[in-house]
Amino acid sequence: MDNRYFHPESLMMSYGYKPALSEGAIKCPIFQTSTFVFNSAEEGKAFFEVAYGQREKAPNEELGLIYSRLNNPDLQILEERLCLWDGADECAVFESGMSAISTVMLEFLRPGDVLLYSKPVYGGTDHFINKVLPEYGIHGFGFTNNQSAEELVEEIQSKGLGEKLKMVYVETPANPTNALFDLEICKKVADAFSSESKDVVVCVDNTYMGPLWQHPLKHGADLVVYSATKYIGGHSDLIAGAVLGHSKYMKRVRTLRTFLGNMAGPWTGWLLMRSLETLKVRMTQQAENAIKVAEFLKNHPKVEKVYYLGHLEQGTSQHAIFKKQLFCAGAMLSFDIKGGEKEAFKFLNSLRLIKLAVSLGSTESLAEHPETMTHSDVSEEDKRTMGITEKLIRLSVGVEHYSDIIWDIEQALEKA
Ligand SMILES: *Cc1c(COP(=O)(O)O)cnc(C)c1O
Repeated sequence: MDNRYFHPESLMMSYGYKPALSEGAIKCPIFQTSTFVFNSAEEGKAFFEVAYGQREKAPNEELGLIYSRLNNPDLQILEERLCLWDGADECAVFESGMSAISTVMLEFLRPGDVLLYSKPVYGGTDHFINKVLPEYGIHGFGFTNNQSAEELVEEIQSKGLGEKLKMVYVETPANPTNALFDLEICKKVADAFSSESKDVVVCVDNTYMGPLWQHPLKHGADLVVYSATKYIGGHSDLIAGAVLGHSKYMKRVRTLRTFLGNMAGPWTGWLLMRSLETLKVRMTQQAENAIKVAEFLKNHPKVEKVYYLGHLEQGTSQHAIFKKQLFCAGAMLSFDIKGGEKEAFKFLNSLRLIKLAVSLGSTESLAEHPETMTHSDVSEEDKRTMGITEKLIRLSVGVEHYSDIIWDIEQALEKA
């Protein structure tokens, strides 16, 4: 009875923090400091040896604090807590989701390399892959969720890209239609092109499901990235990102972060720790509200189609992936309104409680029009194949009383 496994939500208030080191303060203070005082020159030397990888940390040695670009208690404790949800060895927190994603890509890709990525990906990620990386001689190839592992391997081989493939990057569920990708397939493709001298890394953007509803590291992913701006932050009041994974890869990610200097600051770290205390209750309530909202939309005469993971048909391959990979249908849903842009805009402009804004995963419900907003940069052809049309509206369901959310949607649909 002495040893108990505590659930992550039970540890979010205290894990990794020692009150005695901070005058007994029950909460971790904001360590708003750039640098840390060494007790002796010998100690400073020892800390640097470990930080710069000149020697491994001794078994009982504490990693010393040096300078806030390398480490800061608010970030370190936050990172330890984030690891608990995903079952990761290590975590590194960044000043945005994009800095987390771009740092991973820059660390694992070199000129001449190829990146396989799921389509569609977040607009910023798409821009980085297709506009920024080519400037460095790195090229991305998109794949869709109707391709099998065998088809993908054959396509890569026939194009002569096998040697150059270094990363499989996946966003599942895909934004804004909730299309699911099978992580087992991604892992198989990566393995097919990995060798003694070359790892093909599988990286999953898990922002849409947050740390609660999908754990990609348990399905073959090597790295998980988050926009912590979304569910992890959860209050629409900060921008941050995170990367999690095995130590072998995280050491490299952390080192590049040190030299790009794109770590989050102590204030953001502190806010995120505060957010993590309510992560489970927030997300659970949001998912429960989403069930009710999706059910309402499904039966509304002005709604043509609802894209919600809780409505996947039994027996379909999408449903099989859902059962395998996800714990929950989440709180993101989209729907096609009858009509086109005019009706969609009328609906959005008529909302009274739900805010018309991009972003997602926050306590307040948000609505937006992907075709002209988050996905306006996507090519016409890709928009068509992904079902991003004039009539599509995306909803991020918040923690309000579900009947108020539904009331707002109902009155706005009446005006559309
Ligand atoms: C928002 C978002 C990002 C980018 O994160 P920032 O924190 O805005 O930099 C990346 N991926 C997904 C899926 C997102 O929703």
